[in-house]
Amino acid sequence: MNYDLLFEAVQIGPVTAPNRFYAVPHATGHGNLQPNGSIALRETKAEGGWGTVVMQITEIAASSDMANHPMERLWDETYLDAHAKLVERIKRHGALSGIELAHCGMRARNYVSGIPVIGPSNLPLLRPEFPIQVRAMNKSDIRDFRDSHRKAAQLAKRAGYDILYVYAAHDLSLLSNFLSARNNQRSDEYGGSLKNRVRLLREVLEDTLEVASGSCAVALRFSVHEFGFEQAMTYDGEAREVVEMLAELPDLWDVNIAGWPADSQTSRFSEEGYQLEFTDFVKSVTTKPVVGVGRFTSPEKMISLIRSGRLDLIGAARPSIADPFLPTKIREGRLNEIRECIGCNICVSCDAYGVPVKCTQNPSVSEEWRRGWHPENIPSVKKQQTGLIVGGGPAGLECAWTLVRAGMHVTMVEAEEEFGGRVSRESRLSGLFAWSRVRDYRLMQLQQHENVELFPANRLNAGDIEEFDADNVVIATGASWRGDGVGSMNYRPLPWLNEMIVLTPDDVMSNVAPSGPVIVYDDDHFYMGAVLAEHLHRMGNEVRFITPHQEISAWTAFTLEQGAIMNRFADLGIPYHSNLMVKGKQGKELVFTSMLPGMEDRAFSCETLVFVGARLARDELQFEVRKRLGENKVYAVGDCDVPGTIQAAVFSGHRVARQIIDGDESFFRLDRPDIVNR
Ligand code: ADP
Ligand code: SF4
Repeated sequence: MNYDLLFEAVQIGPVTAPNRFYAVPHATGHGNLQPNGSIALRETKAEGGWGTVVMQITEIAASSDMANHPMERLWDETYLDAHAKLVERIKRHGALSGIELAHCGMRARNYVSGIPVIGPSNLPLLRPEFPIQVRAMNKSDIRDFRDSHRKAAQLAKRAGYDILYVYAAHDLSLLSNFLSARNNQRSDEYGGSLKNRVRLLREVLEDTLEVASGSCAVALRFSVHEFGFEQAMTYDGEAREVVEMLAELPDLWDVNIAGWPADSQTSRFSEEGYQLEFTDFVKSVTTKPVVGVGRFTSPEKMISLIRSGRLDLIGAARPSIADPFLPTKIREGRLNEIRECIGCNICVSCDAYGVPVKCTQNPSVSEEWRRGWHPENIPSVKKQQTGLIVGGGPAGLECAWTLVRAGMHVTMVEAEEEFGGRVSRESRLSGLFAWSRVRDYRLMQLQQHENVELFPANRLNAGDIEEFDADNVVIATGASWRGDGVGSMNYRPLPWLNEMIVLTPDDVMSNVAPSGPVIVYDDDHFYMGAVLAEHLHRMGNEVRFITPHQEISAWTAFTLEQGAIMNRFADLGIPYHSNLMVKGKQGKELVFTSMLPGMEDRAFSCETLVFVGARLARDELQFEVRKRLGENKVYAVGDCDVPGTIQAAVFSGHRVARQIIDGDESFFRLDRPDIVNR
């Protein structure tokens, strides 16, 4: 297939994007406190062929302080140097640079600045867990806001940005607060009718165009459909009217859906292109270029979107994190080298913690500056040596692929007939098929490489490994789920479990069929419990989901999936309960103690308990091998070192490979806001 269409230049107002690959704004967790990391991450995208690279939310003033979320800042000239450096580094690769100027309005916290949070009306903050209210803006506040947006735009222009954003999306912006009939309860010319609610957005767009004065472009980022809000703006209602009212004003429409859980849906709940049905209409309303997102990783899909006139530019946040070199690989016809995003949202979870973004597929993201890791270029090994990798799960595969790229001869041995370890097993569960990309990307590269020998269906013991006599031995034997009652909220085994049928996730993934009524008891709190409940339900079992935690699948709140999981339970009719700690078996029933004081025990009929708790590292082999070969040449990676996420396993495999390659065990460099580009 010819992909030239994707590499056509696109005119955006006065500037020209060199191709249609557009890295949209996304949180990186570096923010203004770690400018070197932030710059290097974005420069890598420009280097990898993204024709336009845009900064994440950039606070324009102290009245929009996002506290523990490390956003970019342009409050005043203090921040100019870092932005100028970023622009220079993006442009060095021929890409356009953009900046998402934003005032977060009713979602700002101002916990750092300590000044009142402002918005259209006197209402609580749009974060119910914050005991803070929003003060309605008076005319002078509105003037100040416009003034600070104009000043930030002037600073951004001085920094050299090609595209200045006006941000009215995700219910995360003062301008979207003004647009919303729910948030804007004003009775002056800025409230009431849609025409009035659009007024401030129009004014700010005009202000920004005036600042841009034909030397840079102005983009409007707008959510054309909102989910889960009262009086939501919809693509066939008010949101469409907004696009019609402002159609030709911005130089570019950057469109998506809101809130963030709808915008960044995981592969478990949606297919590539899931936003198109909502964003499609925009092209028919404006003549200006339109960029949209939807976890686009397939070049065929991208071509069809451009050909059918649904988008002009292919927007990507997650696909550009997973593979910053995606455009270059398409241009050079290296399609099977694309590291496709698996849609797991580990990247998203980092935002909640305010830490540099991590990625299951791309272990070098956020490490470009502080560890000096490049996603494609691996330094060569200093002297010729061999590596034996025992275990072909995500950790072993990543370690092998990194060592091979460094020029090492690698042998990888896997006990099962199929490579991929937990990724192969888990990807067969309901909704997790895309996770097999973690295996496929690495395995496909290894299978084509002359410096690798792959041996499936071979279980090695310590004697085999000693006999093999490799220069480096990497043990990547994974972990097994416990079935003894130990989990995140109970650290002691429960001996009475021996008296009933207990299946672990490993058993279910090995197709051991449960009998009778099934209770999936989740003391892990990420995805596995809910996935198994759904999986077993779809296989025709009578399933109930119970967790001792106060929230269902608690950690999925960070991957934005929690709401979707509960909707899925409701749709499938799977009963679920929180705050119930398993206590014992009584006849045909399992009894649970309430975690809430003063509540009675509950009992539910249960023949099979699927216990989703902690995991045990399969570490016997590494200890035995260390005894025989000493500590120096034996490494443990992934779950057999410490059980964790797939992202942690991939990262561990990569980190240890780098350690073997250059012998460097040092920690990373510390980023500082006052020293840019050391
Ligand atoms: P990780 O996430 O750390 O990569 P996995 O559990 O996904 O861990 O993968 C570990 C892999 O190691 C599994 O596929 C398992 O079959 C394999 N394995 C375990 N013990 C041995 C062994 N002695 N020899 C070869 N392969 C092994
Ligand atoms: Fe995609 Fe997961 Fe990487 Fe995020 S962490 S970019 S969702 S693969």
